[in-house]
Amino acid sequence: MTPFQYARANDVADAIRQIATDPSAKFIAGGTNLIDLIKYDVEGPSRLVDISHLPLRSVEPTSTGGVLIGAMVPNADLAYHPMIEDRYPLLARAILSGASQQLRNMASTGGNLLQRTRCFYFYDTATPCNKREPGSGCSAIDGVNRINAILGTSEACIATHPSDMCVALAALEAIVHVTGPAGQRSIAFADFHRLPGNTPQRDTNLEPDEIITSIELPPKGFSANYSYLKIRDRLSYAFALVSVAAALELDGDTIKDARVALGGVAHKPWRSSAAEAALLGQRADATAFMKAADWLLHGAKGYGHNNFKIGLARRAIVRTLSQAARGTPQSNSDKKIR
Ligand SMILES: Cc1cc2nc3c(=O)[nH]c(=O)nc-3n(C[C@H](O)[C@H](O)[C@H](O)COP(=O)(O)OP(=O)(O)OC[C@H]3O[C@@H](n4cnc5c(N)ncnc54)[C@H](O)[C@@H]3O)c2cc1C
Ligand code: SF4
Repeated sequence: MTPFQYARANDVADAIRQIATDPSAKFIAGGTNLIDLIKYDVEGPSRLVDISHLPLRSVEPTSTGGVLIGAMVPNADLAYHPMIEDRYPLLARAILSGASQQLRNMASTGGNLLQRTRCFYFYDTATPCNKREPGSGCSAIDGVNRINAILGTSEACIATHPSDMCVALAALEAIVHVTGPAGQRSIAFADFHRLPGNTPQRDTNLEPDEIITSIELPPKGFSANYSYLKIRDRLSYAFALVSVAAALELDGDTIKDARVALGGVAHKPWRSSAAEAALLGQRADATAFMKAADWLLHGAKGYGHNNFKIGLARRAIVRTLSQAARGTPQSNSDKKIR
């Protein structure tokens, strides 16, 4: 483990100044991912800038009817916030399917977006990994790749993004507000995480000297017809092999609006505009849902151990959309997956 200096940021401007003046510095929020990475020598910042005391802990309604979530709001507080439970239950369910209560108490909203892949080889510094060490190779492509990606992969990297919360945020079309030395900017959630391409070391389009200050949810919360299904090796305290966030707006049994995002299958939460367009105006039934699954999984490619994910994802998409249409969302406390 590389020794590091520690400093606490007084406000957002101070945090940006501290990070911008030291290229090897990193922010630390809840520390639930970064400390592990430092302990495993995957990351070795020479300086940690602690942002956990910044006043970014509110969940507030916006003037346009949405909700603004401070970057330091703990995952647990967000999931149990009355505004989120009532208006954005898809987000609450996705958060509560992740990690453990203790981790959710520590993990921050901003940090959750920036948690790094759980690819085994990324954590094993004895093996080549282009994400950890650009140009060294990808051990997963011909290795044990059961948990790796089937969509949006490149020859350089087949890692998945591990977050549950981000899958719901993608479906809800959240906006990420960030501040850096050049001022503030907003990034649509679809543009926040990157596909690996030939720069897999870059997970997001956030610049190293920018801080996430808040996440904005648009007014539409799909609170009547939604479901989050997470399929994993253990029924709790495990990352998703495949997850699906589904949100529908129905007029009788006709689909007026649809959002579907997949987790555990790509370097970012995976959406398909063709899949969502194919659902519009259709009866909310298995035929329409199977067509949407075909579009979502168009071009899916397995790498051996993870071939099973293609069929698993197809069934998970149909099941989650069916639950959303019936208004019977998957319950995280009901451990039976049927
Ligand atoms: C055993 C275990 C199981 C887990 N299971 C799941 C799971 O099932 N599902 C799931 O979704 N997650 C899971 N997690 C991951 C957990 O949700 C993340 O570790 C957590 O959300 C990260 O938030 P943090 O505040 O602790 O981030 P930190 O560890 O503090 O930071 C993570 C990264 O984000 C950067 N950062 C943090 N905040 C900001 C900001 N505001 N602006 C700019 N950069 C910032 C840091 O510099 C660092 O690079 C698990 C974690 C563990 C340890
Ligand atoms: S899939 Fe990506 S993270 Fe995993 S070994 Fe290959 S380059 Fe590294």
